[in-house]
This record gives sequence, structure tokens and C-alpha cells, in this order.
Amino acid sequence: MAVPPALARLVDALKRLPGVGTRTAERLAFHLLRAPHDETHELAEALLALQDAVVACSTCHNLAESDPCSLCSDPDREHARLLVVEQPRDVTAFEEAGWKGLYHVLLGHVSPLEGVEAKDLTLSALVDRVSGGSVSEVIVATNPDYEGDATALHIVRALDGQPVQVSRIARGVASGSAIEYSNSAMLSDALAGRVNLEGGGR
Ligand SMILES: [Zn+2]
Repeated sequence: MAVPPALARLVDALKRLPGVGTRTAERLAFHLLRAPHDETHELAEALLALQDAVVACSTCHNLAESDPCSLCSDPDREHARLLVVEQPRDVTAFEEAGWKGLYHVLLGHVSPLEGVEAKDLTLSALVDRVSGGSVSEVIVATNPDYEGDATALHIVRALDGQPVQVSRIARGVASGSAIEYSNSAMLSDALAGRVNLEGGGR
């Protein structure tokens, strides 16, 4: 049976998404074919609105509605202190925990298994920010797991020789857990108990 062109087009588009193979794309397409009109309409509108409404801040790389984002352009925040996190979700968690400095979002973590190298992250942009001279403290808040540890090591190496204090948040965040699921009090304690990483790290 020949597949109707509209269906083939949708399957092809879905297959370009990360982690979606032909079978998953077909399953999603058939689901959408049978879904209520409201549901497919909402999905289509959300997709179209996404690229118009969301931009990446060219300074901190967080997702935002403007560039620079509302955090980077807020004069009341402590611009000399950067909290380095893996994902935009972590920014939300630290905002709830009361962090008053700025952020640098890596957009991932180093993971040989997932084929992600340090050069795939926003690490060189972090070095540029720090070498600009307006940053005095960098606090690494990558997740307390294997990838987060490896990423922290890359950050320390990348910032070696820069006139900046580098620390990592304390292990108040349970080992192996994720920042985004930690509560505000826990993150606030982890920030307060940060450990200095200078002098070749730990
Ligand atoms: Zn920003």
C-alpha cells in the first residue's frame, strides 16, 4: 500500500528528531492521525511559536525570550559571580534556591557514551567570559554523577591560569541525583558549602 504523501512527510520530519527512528516516527504519526483535532492543532502551533518566542542568550546560553536574557541584563544581580550549570532546567532550580549571581549554561555534559565532548559544550564561551576580566568567582554546579564530575574537571582545566576563584558546590546534593530534582534548601546548602577547586582540583 502506498503511504499518503502527507503521512510520509510527517514521518520524515519526525525521524529527524534525536532518538526517533523509523518505527517510532510511524507510531507517532499514526497516533497524531487519530488524535482529536484540538490536540494536533495545539502541537502544530506550539512548534511554530517555539522559534519565534525562544532564543538562547548569547551571554549565558540560557533559554530566554530576549538576548541578553532578563538575568544577564539585571543590574541588581552580582555580575562577578558565575554559577556554571548543565541545563536551563538547573537555572530554574537555583533561582528557586535564591542564587543572586549570574549563570553559564553548558547545554550538556561531557559523556563519551553519548558522544559528547567538551568542545560540544559552551566551555570556550565560558573561558571568553572569564578572560574578559569582570568575573571573580566561578562556581561549578554540574550534577553529582560520573558525567558531572568529568565535566567539572574539564572546566577546571579550561580555566587554569585565569585570575578567577573556581569552586564546586558541596555534595549536599545526593551523589548520583540531579540538580533539577533537588529542593531549594538542599541547593542553597550546597552553594554555601562549595569546595575550592584551584590547585589542580581535588
Ligand atoms: Zn543570559
